[in-house]
Amino acid sequence: MTTAEASGWSIAIHGGAGSMDRSMLSQEQDRLARAGLAAALDAGIAVLSAGGPSLDAVEAAVRVLEDNPLFNAGRGSVFTAEGRVECDAAIMDGSNRMAGAVAGVRSTRNPIVLARAVMEQSPHVFLAGSGADAFARAKAIEDAGPEWFETAERRRQLDELLANPDAPFDLGMKYGTVGAVARDLSGHVAAATSTGGLTGKKWGRVGDSPLIGAGTYADDRAGAISCTGAGEYFIRLGVAHEIAAITRLCGIDMLSAANTLIDELSALGGKGGVILAPAHGTSGWAFNTPGMYRGRADSGGMRQVAIYADE
Ligand code: ASP
Repeated sequence: MTTAEASGWSIAIHGGAGSMDRSMLSQEQDRLARAGLAAALDAGIAVLSAGGPSLDAVEAAVRVLEDNPLFNAGRGSVFTAEGRVECDAAIMDGSNRMAGAVAGVRSTRNPIVLARAVMEQSPHVFLAGSGADAFARAKAIEDAGPEWFETAERRRQLDELLANPDAPFDLGMKYGTVGAVARDLSGHVAAATSTGGLTGKKWGRVGDSPLIGAGTYADDRAGAISCTGAGEYFIRLGVAHEIAAITRLCGIDMLSAANTLIDELSALGGKGGVILAPAHGTSGWAFNTPGMYRGRADSGGMRQVAIYADE
């Protein structure tokens, strides 16, 4: 066991899982995605390597990805069927299992900042819709107008979907939901996830990302998990909590627990992936899609940014 595995920090991030393979991404798209992931990883590493808390690290990493229009969270979120952006986010502190989440947010620049404010500055866990944006205003959290969130590429994707209304919902998107998990030098873990959800979503649809236990979970006794993929399946399986529970109660390593859940996801016909920051050992991931935008690092010097399954 290296020092990093015994007691150091570790972090993993994701920028969504999907059907991207090498033929789908241009060299430039590949380069920009890797640069975006590296920047987010660096933001998290800066916190952890200075001895900062995992909660700050995951928030910092997710903020960078939210501000990057390539990823489906914050700026660059996908459009709803009505042509709007509605963001979901959640954050969880594994040291005390405090959590905060928001859904259907339309005017808060960084939904993950708002989720943390719900956790720390309200008696609640989950706020939705206009009330969540009103809470952001009450707490003087930075807002943004539609011109900040909306990009031409996401508009094009909605137009394409509306032109093919019978096409099945799938994860063919090239850039997805974002998330980060980390363990700090004190051994505390945290998880954060942020998303615009699915292109063309309607009827106030909310996926797994902001649901504590489905797309996001952290418990110092097991580790931290952030999910990405077809949210309805992740909700039905309670993926994030189930991974933590199996790890804690069955005494198996978290990667094995995650692979068990990915197998269950596959058996139900669901697609996606998870990133992990275990209470012990280094960060990792599991997914059943051709690709997942992802990165990880630890205090032992390990560092990796990857997109395709064979990396
Ligand atoms: N899990 C997200 C949702 O269902 C989508 C994604 O991860 O790409 O809203």
